[in-house]
Amino acid sequence: MASIVGYSQHDGLFAPGGSMANMYGMLLARYRRFPEIKRSGVSGLGRLVAFTSVDAHYSNTKSAMTLGLGADNLVLVNVDEEGRMDVDHLKECIARAKQDGALPFLVTATAGTTVLGAYDPVDAIADVCQAEGLWLHADAAWGGGALLSPKHRHKLRGIHRSDSVTWNPHKLLAAPQQCSVFLTRHLGLLTQCNSASAPYLFQKDKFYDTKYDSEQKTSRGTHRVLKFWRFGKQRGTKGLERHIDHLFEMTKFFTETIREREGFRLVLEPQCTNVCFWYEPPSLRGKRSHDQYPQLLNSVAPRIKERMVKTGAMMITYQPLHSRPNFFRLVLQNSQVNAEDMKYFANQIEVLGRDL
Ligand SMILES: *Cc1c(COP(=O)(O)O)cnc(C)c1O
Repeated sequence: MASIVGYSQHDGLFAPGGSMANMYGMLLARYRRFPEIKRSGVSGLGRLVAFTSVDAHYSNTKSAMTLGLGADNLVLVNVDEEGRMDVDHLKECIARAKQDGALPFLVTATAGTTVLGAYDPVDAIADVCQAEGLWLHADAAWGGGALLSPKHRHKLRGIHRSDSVTWNPHKLLAAPQQCSVFLTRHLGLLTQCNSASAPYLFQKDKFYDTKYDSEQKTSRGTHRVLKFWRFGKQRGTKGLERHIDHLFEMTKFFTETIREREGFRLVLEPQCTNVCFWYEPPSLRGKRSHDQYPQLLNSVAPRIKERMVKTGAMMITYQPLHSRPNFFRLVLQNSQVNAEDMKYFANQIEVLGRDL
């Protein structure tokens, strides 16, 4: 996986989910900059700040809370219309933090945001991190699977320049849950950061090569590692590539299906396999300029979702985002789906929502 990311040397861990993997990113970034923290703790270091986009996963905020930065010291950078981090705003935020006497140490770029499926411009963000001496963590928990497709991996251009990566095979690659990986190109840093003496467990005088004993790299104890290896053997590199290409094809098919149908409106063009759209029942069509329109549209998705669940027809999530009223989010991850399913999804939404 590290070589697919493009690291020439690497270390890594299987984590109990992407949230924890993101936390390892923050932990290593901080340790690299302030190694004394391991013994002396956070007191006296000053105000450390990290940066990510407003559309980044909530686990980044939780990491900031858990690691003692405080949620306010995770600075949320603006996104553009397509949900990608605004790199000029990132630069402004870093400059402002420095003016305020804070200590920037980390930027987390998201490769496939959870809601919109947006890919932050990792290459441009890497330029900023390089110039500023900041750790770049790429949260590819959701969108990392695209790396396996020569057709789609350009979306993550520059990811090889990151310092660390979160990648969840249990998301886009549809590996059984949980299967989550943290990778870094800094050899030995995980162990330096996380090791603690435990002579009753981590003996070096064993009869085999103890470099494979990974307990000292983590903050945890028991963990499992074989799942993705078995999954990869079973699917094969080509199989995973076909899986990804099929998902993106179905995404395109569904997008084209609803683009042409009355009442459906895309929130934005999909970058990953998230299709975000509104459904306007006939009663709302042609009324976009009415004052009540956003409020009424906001109530449509929850009511259709309720009917979906009660009839057992299907499951598609919905959410509001910034000033956008509730919209549906079809997320494709299972490669068993075909064009008939895509038409079914669109038809069902019409059937369940046309009388609203
Ligand atoms: C799902 C997700 C995570 C968290 O992964 P878990 O395995 O659910 O903890 C982190 N980042 C992004 C972008 C995600 O979509």
